[in-house]
Amino acid sequence: MTAKKTVIRDETGKPQYLLTVVDDVTERRLAEQRIAHMAHYDNLTDLPNRAAFNECLAATLDRVARSGEQFGILSIDLDRFKEANDAYGHAVGDALLREVARRLQAAAAGAFLGRIGGDEFTLIVTDGAQPAAAAALAERLLAAFVDDFEVEGHRLKLGLSIGGAIYPTDGTDAKTLIINADIALYRAKAESRESVLFFEPQMSARLHERRTLEEDLRSAMGRDELFLHYQPQKKMSGETIGFEALVRWQCQKRGMVSPGVFIPIAEESNLIVRIGERVLREACREAASWPQPLTIAVNISPIQFRQDDLPRLVLSVLLETGLAPARLELEITESVLIDDFSRAISILTRLKSLGVRIALDDFGTGYSSLSYLHSFSFDKIKIDRIFIGDLEHSRQSMAIVRAVMGLGHSLGVPILAEGVETDAQYASLVQEGCDEVQGYLTGRPLPIADYAKLVGREAITQQNYAAAG
Ligand code: C2E
Ligand code: MG
Ligand code: MG
Repeated sequence: MTAKKTVIRDETGKPQYLLTVVDDVTERRLAEQRIAHMAHYDNLTDLPNRAAFNECLAATLDRVARSGEQFGILSIDLDRFKEANDAYGHAVGDALLREVARRLQAAAAGAFLGRIGGDEFTLIVTDGAQPAAAAALAERLLAAFVDDFEVEGHRLKLGLSIGGAIYPTDGTDAKTLIINADIALYRAKAESRESVLFFEPQMSARLHERRTLEEDLRSAMGRDELFLHYQPQKKMSGETIGFEALVRWQCQKRGMVSPGVFIPIAEESNLIVRIGERVLREACREAASWPQPLTIAVNISPIQFRQDDLPRLVLSVLLETGLAPARLELEITESVLIDDFSRAISILTRLKSLGVRIALDDFGTGYSSLSYLHSFSFDKIKIDRIFIGDLEHSRQSMAIVRAVMGLGHSLGVPILAEGVETDAQYASLVQEGCDEVQGYLTGRPLPIADYAKLVGREAITQQNYAAAG
């Protein structure tokens, strides 16, 4: 500690005050240390931050370039963290991240572990032979997340996705190693969450393919290569209730591309918001022109749900096209509810207050939590076609179909079976008390012109004919 004294005099020059300035060097040193610490450590978890990770990686690369050793890096991303953070607030999110960091740290057993972003962590594994050592560590990390997390009275389940890259096979510089670990992580997340994948060269080829597909899809929007097919939905008696609109992409370069291929890419790139709006407008415009007041079902992606103004969009499309709200049925999947439950329920409630119907699509493939059925009154449940396709050969599928029928009946919700292809399937469904069907047996997805008669158009044309004749 140093002290400096200064005399302060009045106008006559007489000493008036003695000013003592004490400079506490230890405090300053501590502050400097704290600042240095903050520059390298993450405030929340006290793990090394991105800057520290970059330095450690550079130093490791420097060392192995001379020693010829191998090492691995692991990129980690938390599954379901965002949902928990959104649902329970930031205080819970922060506490959760601290506990995550603690578990990772314990499992890392001395390997460098840094937090490089919101819910992103990275490890540098230098001990042991690679890739075995990095793979073993990754397994330990996954195991550390098997037990639920308990924070502030909430019981939460989190998962990890891990992507790995090994020096020197997957890259010899920091940038390449990080990119390749991230590509592997991206694949791990896309294929199945809660898994670990190590980089393989064909992964970049696939990523490249996705990127070009995305570019082509963007230009497809400008070139009007997207259009709709319509598939009838019928009562078991054979009466047509309505149609589902299914988007099609006739690509100049690729030919016909299946929605199973391009919808996920449109979702990743947010293009689905524009595509979805177009599909909704076109489907409503089309249905409004039918002589028969049939329903029109439109698929709504979970990404469209994250946009705040979905109910407003629906309302404006209804006003614009003049379609009666009760004729519009929006098909959503359970993932909408999993993403952010309370928000989804509030949007669904607003949509329903417009008078439109809400169907639960692909039921049986997701979590199929009964609590979802309880918390919102759906107007229809669509059993996924994988169970229907299996109906004759799998007792399990039969049991699921039977259970869903029972559920629907006790809740008073009609059940539609998707993907009905054979008379035998149809007969079983009749026996199980199914309400409605949609499938190749009762009508394939086709241009609406092919269903002119069902929508009541051909009759009118004939009348006109008669009138003209
Ligand atoms: P989905 O909503 O469950 O649509 C039903 C899918 O089953 C359609 O495939 C349809 O062609 C197919 N299908 C109908 N009957 C049969 C059958 O008897 N046998 C078999 N094997 N398949 C049948 P599609 O048109 O390829 O669409 C696949 C998925 O793509 C849809 O599943 C939906 O999730 C998504 N999708 C399609 N159009 C749109 C759209 O406009 N917006 C959004 N967000 N998603 C869409
Ligand atoms: Mg659908
Ligand atoms: Mg479906």
